Amino acid sequence: MDVYDYIVVGGGSAGCTVTYRLVKAGKSVLMIEAGPNDDNQFVRMPGGFVRLFATERVQFYRSEPQATAGGRPIAVPQGRTLGGGSSVNAMIYIRGGAKDYDEWRDMGCPGWGWDDVLPAFKRAESNQRLAGPFHGTKGPLPVSDARFRHPLSFAGLRAAQEAGYPYNDDFNGAVQQGVGFYQVTQRDAVRGSAASTYLRAVQGDRKLKVIVRATVGKLVIENGAASGVTFVDANGASGEARAREEVILTAGALATPKILMLSGIGPAQYLASLGIPVVRDLPGIGENFQDHLDLPFYVRVKDPISLLGEDQGLKAARHYLQYKLFRTGLLTSNIVEAGGFIDTTGSGRPDIQIHFIPQLLGDPPREGPPGHGLSINPAILDPKSRGTVRLRSANPQDPILFDPEFLSAPEDLAAFARGIKLARKIGGQPSLQRLGAVEISPLGEPLMQTDEQMGEHAKRYAKSIYHPVGTCRMGSDDNAVVDPTLRVRGVPRLRICDASVMPKIVRGNTNAPTIMIAERCADFILGER
Ligand SMILES: Cc1cc2nc3c(=O)[nH]c(=O)nc-3n(C[C@H](O)[C@H](O)[C@H](O)COP(=O)(O)OP(=O)(O)OC[C@H]3O[C@@H](n4cnc5c(N)ncnc54)[C@H](O)[C@@H]3O)c2cc1C
Repeated sequence: MDVYDYIVVGGGSAGCTVTYRLVKAGKSVLMIEAGPNDDNQFVRMPGGFVRLFATERVQFYRSEPQATAGGRPIAVPQGRTLGGGSSVNAMIYIRGGAKDYDEWRDMGCPGWGWDDVLPAFKRAESNQRLAGPFHGTKGPLPVSDARFRHPLSFAGLRAAQEAGYPYNDDFNGAVQQGVGFYQVTQRDAVRGSAASTYLRAVQGDRKLKVIVRATVGKLVIENGAASGVTFVDANGASGEARAREEVILTAGALATPKILMLSGIGPAQYLASLGIPVVRDLPGIGENFQDHLDLPFYVRVKDPISLLGEDQGLKAARHYLQYKLFRTGLLTSNIVEAGGFIDTTGSGRPDIQIHFIPQLLGDPPREGPPGHGLSINPAILDPKSRGTVRLRSANPQDPILFDPEFLSAPEDLAAFARGIKLARKIGGQPSLQRLGAVEISPLGEPLMQTDEQMGEHAKRYAKSIYHPVGTCRMGSDDNAVVDPTLRVRGVPRLRICDASVMPKIVRGNTNAPTIMIAERCADFILGER
């Protein structure tokens, strides 16, 4: 049987990052990834990522019907390939606010305040344009300005400024609030995923072995400590591998709690009810699920200037050729090019993130409304709803029992009402009015007027923006799953360093924060704290 210093379970954003640091430090590592490799042109070509949704590289987790969201099940797609989310995501590079991390510190995570985490963000980053106290220029992760900017993104940004929200040239600098173009994880108009950067830099090192298309079912536990994993490979054959030092779980916020519970680590009574022998009672596993939701808010414009139809026929061929020949044009775009962070409560922290999408974009299988226009989608940054990830049975093949309890907290409906008013205010400004902008509803319903109608709209249309976190919360209390050095409490030689450890979702996109967590995990392991 193969024996390594470390086994990394899941080759996503966190998995590639921690693996790179360990291999660079001379440790032997086995990485096991459920999905295929990332060798796909739609992974590399920024504008192609939407096409990945219908492929094996994206896994759709479907929730239980959500009584609090009109009885709908809600889908949370996740990356399932080397690079994980970072290979299929919209490449927006955002860290969240400094206070998000100070909040973590104050929630029982000493050593995770902003001043503690900033060096890890900088170490990871290689920023093309920005340097100084907030940015790194020599890290593995490329961060740059996108080469293409759509006229409707510009119009949305001008309208937001006319509505009173200042332009921000760096959401990851001294001030997060304002509106502007996002920086993206790209180098020279090619996606910079954790796989194409971190992992690629050590692939070929004889200390690293990567197995793709292999799914870890359970941990091997000996004398109460993690000593290895069992997995099923691409041919359906069972395998087992051992770790001399530690097993590191990086399967993401929806899969990591599943592996733990299948291994007998989780809420004891619940595991016993499924016939799973209990190794360690950790009631917090699978609790505290959080995600960001957003809503469609549409303004239709007069002229045919949006992205509608650009992926068809001759137009598509022209964009493809332009990308292939010159690395310019629409296909260098991450589509969600611009947005902003707005404080609608006066708390001093943003509670709504606006995403401008230069198209009337639907939520598949629902099509967007016909015609050309701009989506000004508000997302709620500080959701109060909390859900759970559980098992359906003791069978690893079964999908998880996923109850996010989306919109169960009334505060989230109120936040959406504020977000809709904000989007409406932006839509009514001269820079969009000049384009003949008219608000329209997703299916031609009458426009919302009251807060109650806005809440109903949220129940009907709110969807995940794919930032699941929190299901193996870090902390110092009895319900915490990992301690502040990311060790699973009470299970020696086992750590978690993916998005599941976030005690509270940050007010921003979650890829860079997850990579930061994995950078710090490597520090803890290598004793360079
Ligand atoms: C479509 C989409 C768009 C997004 N857009 C953005 C964005 O623009 N900006 C941003 O900051 N964030 C974005 N995100 C979120 C961000 O990408 C994630 O928060 C981040 O990738 C999470 O990293 P992770 O390491 O926790 O998990 P992942 O990157 O999801 O990695 C988990 C890996 O583990 C593997 N795995 C799961 N179970 C097993 C198992 N049993 N055995 C072996 N392997 C397993 C999976 O296949 C996957 O590759 C987006 C996410 C998606 C899905």
